[in-house]
Amino acid sequence: MRSHYCGGLNKTHIGEDVVLKGWVHRRRDHGGVIFLDVRDREGISQVVFDPDREESFALADSVRNEYVIEVRGTVRGRPEGTINPDMPTGEIEVLGKELVILNKSETPPFQLDEHQNVGEEVRLRHRFIDLRRPEMQDKLRFRSKVTNAIRNFLDDNGFLDIETPILNRATPEGARDYLVPSRVHEGQFFALPQSPQLFKQLLMVSGFDRYYQVAKCFRDEDLRADRQPEFTQIDIETSFMDEEEIMGITESMIRKLFLELKDIDLGDFPRMPYSEAMQRYGSDKPDLRYPMELIDVADLMAEIEFKVFAGPANDPKCRVTALKVPGGAQLTRKNIDEYTKYVGIYGAKGLAWIKVNELEKGIEGLQSPIIKFLGEDVTLAIMERVGAENGDIVFFGADKAKIVSEALGALRIKVGEDLEMAQCEWAPLWVVDFPMFEETDNGGLTALHHPFTAPSCSAEELKANPLEALSRAYDMVLNGCELGGGSVRIHDQGMQSTVLEILGISEEEADDKFGFLLNALKYGAPPHGGLAFGLDRLIMLMTGTDSIREVIAFPKTQSASCMLTEAPGEVSAAQLRELNIKLRKTP
Ligand code: ASP
Repeated sequence: MRSHYCGGLNKTHIGEDVVLKGWVHRRRDHGGVIFLDVRDREGISQVVFDPDREESFALADSVRNEYVIEVRGTVRGRPEGTINPDMPTGEIEVLGKELVILNKSETPPFQLDEHQNVGEEVRLRHRFIDLRRPEMQDKLRFRSKVTNAIRNFLDDNGFLDIETPILNRATPEGARDYLVPSRVHEGQFFALPQSPQLFKQLLMVSGFDRYYQVAKCFRDEDLRADRQPEFTQIDIETSFMDEEEIMGITESMIRKLFLELKDIDLGDFPRMPYSEAMQRYGSDKPDLRYPMELIDVADLMAEIEFKVFAGPANDPKCRVTALKVPGGAQLTRKNIDEYTKYVGIYGAKGLAWIKVNELEKGIEGLQSPIIKFLGEDVTLAIMERVGAENGDIVFFGADKAKIVSEALGALRIKVGEDLEMAQCEWAPLWVVDFPMFEETDNGGLTALHHPFTAPSCSAEELKANPLEALSRAYDMVLNGCELGGGSVRIHDQGMQSTVLEILGISEEEADDKFGFLLNALKYGAPPHGGLAFGLDRLIMLMTGTDSIREVIAFPKTQSASCMLTEAPGEVSAAQLRELNIKLRKTP
């Protein structure tokens, strides 16, 4: 048995005999004395082998990086001048007396402290080595602390941890399902869960009252940088609680988590209606660390000749808005060109701007290619509306409302980051009062959250004006990231049918996909609601990591494959035959 972890030794152990087990992090030969830095999960200790113990000295001389060894020795204080204040164990070393090589290692594909020199692909392919790095160990250890703290909180508050199935019918969560062919039922498929949504609702119908699960979810989407095809949710559902109560309890959970694990007090989370978030920040997950806001100027542009602005200003589906950036007049032509390219990602066709050099000189004090099209009166009225001051730049967006909001909303954050305008480190909020539905490109309606979300109006009002109706959904947002989202659900079968009808889901289709839920709603379903937090994203934010792959032990790449196991892979003809699957040759 080991007596101590390498990283656990300090001055208080001086004089003690210890047994360490771990990996050779580095071996150094210093004029006849061999130093081994021995590493385990908790850190590194320096072990010294003197030539007077011939056998262990010879063995110490033979070890190489990443060999697994067992060391017996005595802790002693480091001699004056050799103390290393950068190492937690830097005041002591172990005088090695016996050494056993437990296993050898081939030369690793990269040195742990030189991981930056190799591409991520090499790291992922040899993930078992990459995960030995102290940073990776710290992140996964932190992740374990987070799930542990969440479990404790939920357990203390009467939530039961209940597992739900992985092999399911396709659920209508919106994304594409991962399918698993059934061998026993020829031609039929299971779907992996996009979320345990329907099961957690059924658990409420069954009377469990408070449920949670650290749930693996699967969505076969084209991946963006912060997405993984399989990811983990902290999934929660409660009965007899309204949105205020659900937001209240989950907000205390997140607040406690930050306080306990990061010593950060997030304070009370403000609430903001969706419409206000879109209006002021161009986003349903506004990053409130940055003070800038979008200010609509369509009414000022309605009469001008210049079609680029006047067109959208007179179209109710469009938006004409300004973003004033304090101190932005220092931006160069090159910066502005880059931002123009950036808003192009969101579909914006250009990025108009006005620099405010000397406002007291009126129009003369402004600099911009568009003033001549706007005219003096309109330009000055805009300056007044946005509260322009010397040194500012004002950007403009004029297009379909969605494009303008997304483009200027994203620009707001980009410029805020570039000019280091964050006014605080953490900015949490709840976004509430989401619309029930949004229009699809082909003119139909789709649920903004999911079809089981309750509206805040009656079924009649909903039918009469579906696009005006608000839902009882809520999202928790932190620093511009959606940490979690959920809703009070529909518990009345009639209301559920109305919503499905509005969504254009036929009775037959509804019955086929989730008839079991509709049926359960007939048998005493209590009012219920819940939410789900994205665990991976939460850990990313808490550890200040930019890549989701850094906080998952064995992540998939952006093309949804595993570099380590090379999944997905081909299967044998026999396996396919057993599943009655014949592959079509793609041309
Ligand atoms: N099932 C939802 C999701 O995965 C969360 C919820 O409504 O509880 O986003």
